[in-house]
Amino acid sequence: MAIPLLRDFDIRGKSVLVREDLNVPLEDGRVANRARIDAALPTVRHCMAAGARVVVVSHLGRPRPGERDPALSLAPVAKALGDALGCAVPLVDDWKDGVAVAEADVVLLENIRFEAGETANDPVLAQRLAALCDVFVMDAFGTAHRAHASTVGVAQTASAACAGPLLAAELSALGRVLDDPARPLVAVVGGAKVSTKLAVLEALAGVADSIVVGGGIANTFLLASEMRIGSSLAEPDQVDVARRIMSRVDVPMPVDLMTATAMDPRLPARLRLRDEVGSNEMVLDVGPETARRLSDIVAEAGTVLWNGPLGVFEWDQFGEGTRVLAEAIAAADAYSVAGGGDTLAAIAKYRVDEGISYQSTGGGAFLEYLAGETLPAVAALEGRTVGPHRR
Ligand code: AMP
Repeated sequence: MAIPLLRDFDIRGKSVLVREDLNVPLEDGRVANRARIDAALPTVRHCMAAGARVVVVSHLGRPRPGERDPALSLAPVAKALGDALGCAVPLVDDWKDGVAVAEADVVLLENIRFEAGETANDPVLAQRLAALCDVFVMDAFGTAHRAHASTVGVAQTASAACAGPLLAAELSALGRVLDDPARPLVAVVGGAKVSTKLAVLEALAGVADSIVVGGGIANTFLLASEMRIGSSLAEPDQVDVARRIMSRVDVPMPVDLMTATAMDPRLPARLRLRDEVGSNEMVLDVGPETARRLSDIVAEAGTVLWNGPLGVFEWDQFGEGTRVLAEAIAAADAYSVAGGGDTLAAIAKYRVDEGISYQSTGGGAFLEYLAGETLPAVAALEGRTVGPHRR
């Protein structure tokens, strides 16, 4: 069902409440990675340029509901947002009786998870948030899988509600991959555990032409193919799932692997053919021949969807598989979408940003969407209309 979009609204002089996902990592009281702030900037700038009174709301970390943990204040984020916008962004702690914002100005509410009712989607809190605005703009794709007061409750209660440009772009990029992808569609699913990506793997088995597996996930598939994987991270209880997926879709198996005898960053990587892995060895990356073969598959793809590294890429000696595949995805003519914290970190580490068509800001939401689940904050916008605010 169609959802109203911010661009259809006349917001001049109106109060807009913009839900962003500004849940950024902090180090020594400063923003350590600004990617989520940067992703929110076009929406905030659009609202300011249109002459709206802009109130931004976000969570940060996981404070105990109702507890005001000073280490999780959004103050450093207000500072970073202000620096990026070139204006002061006041942090508003006490907003229950309303917030005074001039036209074309912006304020940021303090961490919404300091409010006891946020994660419980308390209707009273949702009503208070709704009372701050003429139009609620849901733009936090990264939090769209959570039914909270500032994502779902307010979207149902505000006098008008719509999707912001970032949320709309995310849905459009993922829709292009899942709904009518240019074929072949190659999904690259790496990372630690099959169990955390089970629903995604099952859903992709029904739509992808190939699923390239890596990391601990590949180890479980190797186990399912009765290969020896020594003392590698794997999930024997997921072997049946792996077999079921392999019966539905092409899953190319590694032919060579990089191993070590312990999870120790100082140990060198040892190259093994896949039937040579010793009982005391752990598989921590794919080998060069596998990386080359997987790159060939990606090079032929019409669409590539990527979540999860192919090895322990944080340690350079086990990062080669991820690097080679990242470069292949970036070089391919395919439309490519990547998501998940480690995947975006790998894209940054190997400097392949420019070759990736779309980098999703969602981790959990990205995986849930791929698994075919309805995101509650998106569902809450369905059936809402532009009404008297149409431009
Ligand atoms: P995930 O959050 O499931 O995407 O997992 C990402 C993590 O999996 C990264 O921190 C990688 O270091 C780790 N990882 C990748 N390959 C392996 C492997 N073969 N064995 C153990 N951990 C791995």
